[in-house]
Amino acid sequence: MQVLTVPVTPFMQNARFITCPETSKTAIVDPGGDADKLLKCIHDGQLNIECILLTHGHLDHVGAADELKKALGLEIIGPHLDEKFWFDALPMQSQMFGFAPKAAFYPDRWLSHKEPVSVGKMQLEVRHCPGHTPGHVVFYHNDSSKVIVGDVLFKGSVGRTDFPKGDASQLKQSILEQLFTLPEETVVLSGHGENTTIGFEKYNNPFMSGQYG
Ligand SMILES: [Zn+2]
Ligand SMILES: [Zn+2]
Repeated sequence: MQVLTVPVTPFMQNARFITCPETSKTAIVDPGGDADKLLKCIHDGQLNIECILLTHGHLDHVGAADELKKALGLEIIGPHLDEKFWFDALPMQSQMFGFAPKAAFYPDRWLSHKEPVSVGKMQLEVRHCPGHTPGHVVFYHNDSSKVIVGDVLFKGSVGRTDFPKGDASQLKQSILEQLFTLPEETVVLSGHGENTTIGFEKYNNPFMSGQYG
């Protein structure tokens, strides 16, 4: 998997272009805003975009998805159906985050746990990781040892759980069961900040310490 990272919005959310090296087919993961900037990347890189993938419904992750869908004729895929209320709440989120007004829109397809998603010839595995938000999913690519985790896990930190329907113990359980069971060399691509690895977080993440000594 080839990854191009483009930070968007004042929250510096890591929108990602993930490309299948064999077919050059690309998906956009979490286009949270700055649609013009993302469209310029697509144009300049002559990217062959297949779909839009979303980890969860926070505005800084989904804000440009509807615009890109219209501009490029793409499907929006994910997250999990349990995230629907955050899409209902998009107008409220734009006020809460101080963004331009945003009408509600919805994915074309919700994803379920362990469902395979393909981008070109790459097979990604969906893992449902509730806690930061109830319908949050991550995308695991076994062949390139990468996992795109949105706001579940960060280098030295974890996602906030103080939003409506956030749940700290559920988040911890998601990280233990769905992320820390991956090979330690797996590269973690987080929604904000720099990349890390499963191994580094298992042994160094202060929010998860005590679990692995
Ligand atoms: Zn979030
Ligand atoms: Zn975020």
